[in-house]
Amino acid sequence: MNSERDFNEIIMSLARKRGFIWGPSPELYGGSSGFYDLGPLGKLLKNRLENQIRAAFVRANFWEVECPTVSPREVWLASGHLEGFIDPVTECTKCGQIYRADNLIAEKSPEMNIAGLNADGLTETIRKIGLVCPSCKGDLGPVQAYNLMMQTRLGLNQEAYLRPETATTTYLLFKRFLTFFRDKLPAAVFQIGKAYRNEISPRQGMLRLREFTQTEGQIFLLEKDEMDWSQFHDITDEKLPLVTYKAQEKGKFDSIMTKMSDAVKNGFFQKPAYAWCVHLAYTIFRQMGFSDEKMRLRQHLPTERAHYAADAWDVEIHTESFGWVECCGIHDRGNYDLSRHQEFSKQNLSVKVDKEYVVPEVLEIAFGIERPLFCLIDNSFRPESKERDTDWLQFPPEVAPIQVAVFPLMGKPELLTPSEKIYDAVMDAGFVAQFDVGGSIGKRYRRQDEVGTPFCITIDYTTIEDETITVRDRDTMEQVRVHTSDLTKVLRGLVRGTIQFNSLK
Ligand SMILES: [Zn+2]
Repeated sequence: MNSERDFNEIIMSLARKRGFIWGPSPELYGGSSGFYDLGPLGKLLKNRLENQIRAAFVRANFWEVECPTVSPREVWLASGHLEGFIDPVTECTKCGQIYRADNLIAEKSPEMNIAGLNADGLTETIRKIGLVCPSCKGDLGPVQAYNLMMQTRLGLNQEAYLRPETATTTYLLFKRFLTFFRDKLPAAVFQIGKAYRNEISPRQGMLRLREFTQTEGQIFLLEKDEMDWSQFHDITDEKLPLVTYKAQEKGKFDSIMTKMSDAVKNGFFQKPAYAWCVHLAYTIFRQMGFSDEKMRLRQHLPTERAHYAADAWDVEIHTESFGWVECCGIHDRGNYDLSRHQEFSKQNLSVKVDKEYVVPEVLEIAFGIERPLFCLIDNSFRPESKERDTDWLQFPPEVAPIQVAVFPLMGKPELLTPSEKIYDAVMDAGFVAQFDVGGSIGKRYRRQDEVGTPFCITIDYTTIEDETITVRDRDTMEQVRVHTSDLTKVLRGLVRGTIQFNSLK
């Protein structure tokens, strides 16, 4: 456990020093846990991840929407969050420390099955097993249901809540979607935006936040579509790293690369449409730069599933800091949400199928962006070595916060003028680039290695003679000369991985 904590501390101190993540925020006033600021490089990295996510959803025919982050009470009553989005907590009667009751019980008596127990049941269990405050041995008070939503008010006194997920706000638009999609289902939409969860005492830094950015993709469809999903045929030969719940029950947690067609045939996924969503989630994480070795898809045990979920799989990322980290959930929400909003709003949210009105089903891909952002920094960390006198970040080029750095060999006018021209061309081609004139070339390479910039360009006196520049590869620290007229084409290939650096030598 110690080494895990140490590695997380290495990553967080690097992230702080190099301008990725600051906090807890507001640092100036001591900080509140569960809140972080993104520095300039953290924000660039997040933008890149969002761009990848957006591109993947749009390619899969999802449309993006944006909804308010505050909604009145009736929305959360209908969604089930007022009643169901709760943690059971207990307060020490002596020192006042607050604990998650279920976690405390599980720590003391891991063999006990407390799933489904209400507050009274948990209070009784605490008495029965003689549980006391871990820090002062004082008696624990009665267990209370603590709602994780942040409350606010509209105007003088209308009760309202900050959304704990973007999904519910997307569902509220369903009638509008029907018109927009000309009454045709399936229809797919996604939303990227802030969500809030008032965790009791968030630990684990970036993994448990009170305010975070969520991405949730929703497919509205009919039951018959779930079994007959034409897009599934495009991916039947693709393989995913799967860990089924049956394997977990046998103590096996290593993923097995499984062909999609086999996964459905063997009943790992009940529905082809759901299987397609799991594959899409996997694709999104691949495009954010995670490799198969660091990724697995884990099926929830039947006891783990949320109140609305008929089947559930998670994308998990392996980190040095915390081991496997749950990063994305793929949920079969059934028609729970639309039915509830139909009931509470008294508006018709059904569609007509063969002369009958039915409430559509929902499949969902849901994840926060801060977790993959942290995991990517964790996965990209490389310690200093004989070859390189600094620790560095090996970000996949496509998501690196800065993709290209441009250096004039020296700050002289005859080098600055062509350098600025090249810098402009690189920016115009859509790369995130940085211009740096300060210090020796060695120092400048080092600075870029530290923030994970994959390619550095140097303009020297040879450039003036023959219009070639050097491109330096972060990973091998090797350089090649490229003609300026080929530069953006070469960079695009290098960033996308369609050109290998070695082939330029
Ligand atoms: Zn205590």
